[in-house]
Amino acid sequence: MPIRPFGRDLFLDTRYSRTGTRFRVYPQPKFLPGFARAVTIHVDSTPGTVGIGPADDRMYVVDARNKRPYSKTGRVPPYAGARLRPAEPNRQGHFDEIEPDDETFKSATAYGAIRCVLDIWEVYLGRRLAWHFGDTYRRLEIIPRVRDWNAFSMFGYVEFGAGDPSGLVCENFDSVAHEVGHLILKGVIGNPSVRPVEFRAHEEAGADLVAVVSSLHFKEVVDRLLKRTHGRLFAASIVSRIGEAVVARNLYNDFTMGDVPWDPDPDAYKYSLCLPFEGAVFDLLVELYERRLVAHDAIARRVADRSSHARGRAVRGLKGAFARGFARHENAFRLALAEARDYMGLLLARTWQMTPATNLSFSSVVATMLTADQQLGGRHGPLIRAIFARRLILPMKSA
Ligand SMILES: [Zn+2]
Repeated sequence: MPIRPFGRDLFLDTRYSRTGTRFRVYPQPKFLPGFARAVTIHVDSTPGTVGIGPADDRMYVVDARNKRPYSKTGRVPPYAGARLRPAEPNRQGHFDEIEPDDETFKSATAYGAIRCVLDIWEVYLGRRLAWHFGDTYRRLEIIPRVRDWNAFSMFGYVEFGAGDPSGLVCENFDSVAHEVGHLILKGVIGNPSVRPVEFRAHEEAGADLVAVVSSLHFKEVVDRLLKRTHGRLFAASIVSRIGEAVVARNLYNDFTMGDVPWDPDPDAYKYSLCLPFEGAVFDLLVELYERRLVAHDAIARRVADRSSHARGRAVRGLKGAFARGFARHENAFRLALAEARDYMGLLLARTWQMTPATNLSFSSVVATMLTADQQLGGRHGPLIRAIFARRLILPMKSA
């Protein structure tokens, strides 16, 4: 499907197309107000072509019984131990009749959420994603529940922990999307054996951004977000906070490269080092959205100009201006957000496709993003430079 940035016809809601195999997912953690019910999505496969498991030609779900994470046992896929009942489609080939209290729901929803994120990003990438482990395993193995609280996305598999009492991690769309994000970045950029901490931090940031852009494809998320914020997105919100209760990072932040808390352990440091980068991209998303609001006459240019990271008393005035605009032009706000979301998705996908795995730094990625923006005709170069400069990240070509 061709996409023209900011065209009228760009709505990329592949999941809301009328055909495709149906699944149910929770667009946000079900303990959040307004998200207690799972919603129906369509994945881009003809009904009847997704098999029992669910399983298809490039991934399969195994509901392993009482399994510990591969990373803790040193084992690798394929899983050969005891397993519980697989999820089965109805007679028309859909999986959306499986109720959340059925033990096979977790298998169906994990598959549905993973496919949903892949469907969205394969449109942005303009091609099918190749698994980075494709030389070893033909298919991705998905384990919906292991004995751990965390989620893992590794060589040939993703597995999800039991989470906390509020729900399984595989039912948390942000967390699933984040893990798929790792697969996308590894599939597109690569997974070299030597991965400096900035490479790993960039992958964490990319995975969080995949989650944000993917959740903005849910009408339920967009409606709730706009209602709660009255359209002013320079704020902490359900969308800026990723994986609520699982990873707990906030993309709406003020961190610069100069004040990220350092940690001698790279496994921990990557989670703070990613903050200035993903914070900058989140700001870019909101700036693009506000520019579209101005273009649609939904807010005044002087309001948008004052909006970014305003503090104190200025915020109250801005909130009022946004609330008045939102009350009058609700649909323009939705459209502006969809346009900004899709441009962000295209920009990130194009950037990653041009990013080599060696000598990757935040600075080299920003330089590549400037090129990607030019190729897409975005003309946002000065904005991109300014937003990253605030984080003390300056564009530089890698050696
Ligand atoms: Zn991660």
